[in-house]
Amino acid sequence: MAAVRNYVPETLDEALLLRKAEGAVPLAGGTDIMVQGKRGIGLSPEIGKPVMVISSLKELKGITMLPDGSVEIGALTTAAEIAESLIVPWHVRMAASGMGAVALRNIATIGGNIGNASPKGDLPQPLILLDAEVVLISFDGERRVLLDAFIQGSKKTDLHDDEIIKSVVIPPHDFTYSYYRKIGMRKANAISKLSLSAAAVVKDGLVVDFRASSGAAGPKVIRSREAESMIIRRPVEDIPEIVPDFLEAWDHAISPHAMPKYRRNSTARMLTRFLEAIVNEEEPGIVE
Ligand SMILES: Cc1cc2nc3c(=O)[nH]c(=O)nc-3n(C[C@H](O)[C@H](O)[C@H](O)COP(=O)(O)OP(=O)(O)OC[C@H]3O[C@@H](n4cnc5c(N)ncnc54)[C@H](O)[C@@H]3O)c2cc1C
Repeated sequence: MAAVRNYVPETLDEALLLRKAEGAVPLAGGTDIMVQGKRGIGLSPEIGKPVMVISSLKELKGITMLPDGSVEIGALTTAAEIAESLIVPWHVRMAASGMGAVALRNIATIGGNIGNASPKGDLPQPLILLDAEVVLISFDGERRVLLDAFIQGSKKTDLHDDEIIKSVVIPPHDFTYSYYRKIGMRKANAISKLSLSAAAVVKDGLVVDFRASSGAAGPKVIRSREAESMIIRRPVEDIPEIVPDFLEAWDHAISPHAMPKYRRNSTARMLTRFLEAIVNEEEPGIVE
């Protein structure tokens, strides 16, 4: 096996240089990359490219509220830090608090969860619901891309060879109703078999905003703008008659290969429950 160089940059500039000059692969918490490169007991993982351990770069850490009310989460922020932060929107906190077990949450980062682009990754699902953007940095500057566009498919992103994920920015929202569920095999350390977020704004009997996102339901997180538009700007009283067509449109959006029938049925049940809360004008807040 050819020797692979490993680096531990001390500043972001140094990391960007290594990325550009050597194509060094960022290693944040290592919980995905080390597993993917594993070779067997007693053998060190094989990544195949120079690796740079970026876990100490303070430029990529922290959670900040921006002047416009958006929340910026540094790429190296761990799932545990996200779960505990009260300025992080509820859907994202819920997803972070259900990721793996405590030990994993203490090292798994948001940048790694996005960079890995697994359809079963927990954080992209609520982030895409909230129209989050990913901030990418290189020596040429920064660019911001909608996360929904940045993740292009299973394990496929629009990360350029000289770029590093710097942060994720979530725009402000004020939802009347919010919903989040992750279905896994067991409580801890369970990779998602299915997850769903939904949110709605209802004002004076009119649904002003409605959105939903499904995780582990296709090569990437599914959001169906077509299905959402069937509910948006409709009076609450019209929703019961729209529900069957809405559920059918949602079912079409889900990849049939990723989801057996019983999981599609579970998704339909969760969406129905959320819509029921709107129709019944339940107490605003979290829908159980
Ligand atoms: C036992 C176990 C249980 C797990 N359970 C869950 C779970 O319940 N839910 C879940 O979502 N995931 C789970 N995972 C997967 C993993 O922990 C997460 O995806 C985690 O968020 C990855 O973060 P990391 O910092 O460890 O990424 P790393 O392994 O360091 O990196 C992952 C990928 O992202 C790239 N990357 C990392 N940071 C950057 C950056 N700043 N810029 C550009 N590219 C970057 C890396 O190059 C690599 O390609 C589990 C893993 C294990 C081993």
